[in-house]
Amino acid sequence: MNPIVIIGSGLAGFNTVKEFRKLDKETPVVVLTADDGRNYSKPMLSTGFTKEKTADELAMATPEQVAEQFNVTVRTGVHVAGIDTDKQRVLLPDDHLDYSSLVLALGADTWTPPLEGDAVGEVFSVNDLMDYGRFRQALEGKREVTILGGGLIGCEFANDLSNGGFQVSLVEPMGRCLPMLLPEPASAAVGRGLEDLGVRFHFGPLAKAVHHGKDNPDKLVTELSDGTHLESDVVLAAIGLRPRIGIAKDAGLKTNRGILTDQSLRTSADNVYALGDCAEVQGHVLPYVLPLMASARALAKTLAGEPTPVSYGVMPVTIKTPACPVVVCPVPEELEGDWETEEEGNTVKALFRDRDGNLRGYALTGDAVKEKMKLNKELPALMP
Ligand code: FAD
Repeated sequence: MNPIVIIGSGLAGFNTVKEFRKLDKETPVVVLTADDGRNYSKPMLSTGFTKEKTADELAMATPEQVAEQFNVTVRTGVHVAGIDTDKQRVLLPDDHLDYSSLVLALGADTWTPPLEGDAVGEVFSVNDLMDYGRFRQALEGKREVTILGGGLIGCEFANDLSNGGFQVSLVEPMGRCLPMLLPEPASAAVGRGLEDLGVRFHFGPLAKAVHHGKDNPDKLVTELSDGTHLESDVVLAAIGLRPRIGIAKDAGLKTNRGILTDQSLRTSADNVYALGDCAEVQGHVLPYVLPLMASARALAKTLAGEPTPVSYGVMPVTIKTPACPVVVCPVPEELEGDWETEEEGNTVKALFRDRDGNLRGYALTGDAVKEKMKLNKELPALMP
């Protein structure tokens, strides 16, 4: 019997393994991964200095330990080149592997901005444990970091690197922190919290180029569209993520922003499923842990023979900026309504109500984060 093949050893891939093995101890499972296959929790990458953890300390298990614990095969450093859905076959660089069911847990690519300059190749992005290891190494003995992007990942790294003693400059063209997630007063509260830690913001301009310093080539100079030159030791891009859809698209699977699935995580090809950052489940692209955990539990049942749709309840996101704690329950896209905001210092309670007056999202900062549980009970499930 051909195995169940899972591509990806991130939280989506390994949680599917874990949930499946609770239901089925025997069916062969092979995990293929382009990275080193260590099991880790990605959200911990942006709290490494605060929690004083190196990349090695963040790894919870080696691929060998995962293989033994769950009775699966884990093949690391394998970059899947394509999929033949007619033959139910995964194409590897020098080989192929036939599957009974295929799970795409491919994650998302970091988006690199179109920068010029002779030091563009030295701009970091941190999207997995291996990236994090290289980033930590580059920071050794250094002091100044420029972060491009003030979204979730940029703000979390700004807080964490400040806690680690680094001088952080953050560039955000949309003019405020977390512009895609928070209404303005909540963004301002996060900005003040981070500023109090010493973060220097450059709101408005775009980063245009990254050069080596003229006098000191060890320094990097980030050139902004308003003419500012920011000198630092390390530059981190945290601009955004794009679901990895390439191999699915090439194989003829339906894709949009992510790999399209129905509520049972079935793609448009027979016996091929997708979950996690690469998936667009009934129109929802949710690159967070809670949705992928719910997906892994449902998919495990389906793979074990009991077809099960995933339900998304209320899906709040906690942003790890202890300088100004934030919890947000994002407003569904294109929903019309208004924010009602109460604020006192860095405590902001912003509630989004639709045209019928129903609560449909919130953003809480500072002490207001305590109200999360109460508000969650008022919100409708995202995908019942
Ligand atoms: P990934 O972990 O990216 O795994 C993808 C896997 O696919 C990898 O193993 C990769 O090697 C493999 N792969 C890809 N292409 C191929 C190929 N062609 N061949 C073989 N293997 C391939 N979410 C929250 O909910 N809360 C948080 O606090 C939070 N903090 C975060 C902090 C940071 C710094 C980051 C970057 C993200 C954070 N997130 C957070 C988001 C969350 O971590 C992700 O949604 C989640 O980890 C994605 O898991 P995944 O398994 O879908 O993808």
